[in-house]
Amino acid sequence: MYPEGVSDTSRGISQRILSIAESATLKVDAKAKALKAQGRPIISFAAGEPDFATPPHVVEAALAAVRDPANHRYTPAAGLPILREAIAAKTARDSGWAVSPSQVVVTNGGKQAVYQACATLLDPGDEVLLPAPYWTTYPEAIALAGGIPVEVFAGADQDYKVTVAQLEAARTNKTKALFFVSPSNPTGAVMSFEETKAIGEWATEHGIWVIADEIYQNLVYEPGMDHAVSIVEAAPGVADRCIAVNGVAKTYAMTGWRLGWMVGPQDAINAASNLQSHLSSNVSNISQMAALAALTGDQSDALAMREAFNARRHAIVSGLNAIDGIVCPEPMGAFYVYPDVRGLLGKQWAGTTPTTSLELADLILEQCEVAAVPGEAFGPSGYLRFSYALGDKDLAEGIARLQAFFSG
Ligand code: GLU
Repeated sequence: MYPEGVSDTSRGISQRILSIAESATLKVDAKAKALKAQGRPIISFAAGEPDFATPPHVVEAALAAVRDPANHRYTPAAGLPILREAIAAKTARDSGWAVSPSQVVVTNGGKQAVYQACATLLDPGDEVLLPAPYWTTYPEAIALAGGIPVEVFAGADQDYKVTVAQLEAARTNKTKALFFVSPSNPTGAVMSFEETKAIGEWATEHGIWVIADEIYQNLVYEPGMDHAVSIVEAAPGVADRCIAVNGVAKTYAMTGWRLGWMVGPQDAINAASNLQSHLSSNVSNISQMAALAALTGDQSDALAMREAFNARRHAIVSGLNAIDGIVCPEPMGAFYVYPDVRGLLGKQWAGTTPTTSLELADLILEQCEVAAVPGEAFGPSGYLRFSYALGDKDLAEGIARLQAFFSG
C-alpha cells in the first residue's frame, strides 16, 4: 500500500518517504475547501485554525518590518536575537522554565520544531512513547527520524489522559523519548499539576527525554488559569532532557505566518540549530518581527479570542451530546472536541451503514456537508475530531445539520 498518488516503487523514491501518509488534518481541510470552492455549502470543523484575523498591532509590526532593509537579508539560522529573548521570557513566565535566549531555536511553525526535535534526539530503532489519541504528524516525524512510535491509548473513559502505569507498561530498554501534549490535539484534554508532575518525575527517573508540545498552552478554560501546567514547571528535573515546542499560530490567530520555536538544553538546541542551518536557515524576518509584537504587545485580542472559543466550546459540547449515539467529554483546553461516535456505527443512515469513523466522516461530509477529521488520523477508529475555531453561525448551523440528520 502506497500513499495516494504514489504507486510505482520502481521509480526509485525512497522507502522512508514512501511510507509517509499525507497529513490527514490538512487533507480533510483541503477537501472541504475544494468542495466549498465548487459552490457546496460546506461547514468545516476540520483544521485547527482560528477564524479570526491576526491582531492589528501584529500586522502593523510586520508592515514596518517589511520596510526595514535589515529584514531583507539572511539573519541567524536560530532566530533574531530580540525574538529569542522574548521567547525565553515567555518560557519563564508560562512554562516556569528559566532558559537563556541561546536555548531557543525559532522554527517555521511548530511542525518544524516537532520534526527537528525527533531528528535531534532519535537514532534508528529508538522507541518513542506516544500517548494516543495523538496529533497526526507525531508518528510520521518519529518514523522519519528512524524511531518507532509506541502508542499508549487512553480513551474517553479516562478523559483521554494516559497514566504513569500505562507508560510504565509500555517502557522497554529501547524507550528514548515520550511525547507530552497538554492541552492535547486532538482531544483538548488538559493534565492537572499532579498528573503532569507524576509523568515528569517518572520520565526523569528513567532518563527518558520528553518532547513537550505546548502550542495550546494559553488556550485553557479553567477559570483563573492563564496557561496549562508545563511539565518542567511540575517536575523541574525534566529540564535536562526536555524539548518544548511552541508557537504563535493558535493563540494569536497566526497559522499562516509559520512561526514556532523549540526550547531545550544547550547541547540539544545547538544540534537542532545546526540541522536547521542546512534545512531552512532563518524563518522569514517579517514573521519573526510579527511574533515579537504578538508576544510582547497588547494581549487583549488574544484574550478575547480565547473567550470566544470558550463560548463555542460550551455550544459544541452540548450540541453534540444532544445526539443519541455521541458521547462528547468536555475538553478544558485547545479548540477541539473529540466525541466517541461508536454509538452511531453499524446503524443505517440514509441508506449507508458506516462501520468506522472514517466512513462516518465521509457520510456526514456527503449528506450534511459537514467536515470533521476521523479518529483514524489520530489513533483508533470510533471518534471524530471537531475544531470549534470556526465562526459562531457556522458552528450552530453545522451542529443543527448533524442533529437533524441523526434524529432521522
Ligand atoms: N495543527 C492543526 C490541526 O491539527 C493544523 C493542521 C496541521 O498542521 O495538521 O488541524
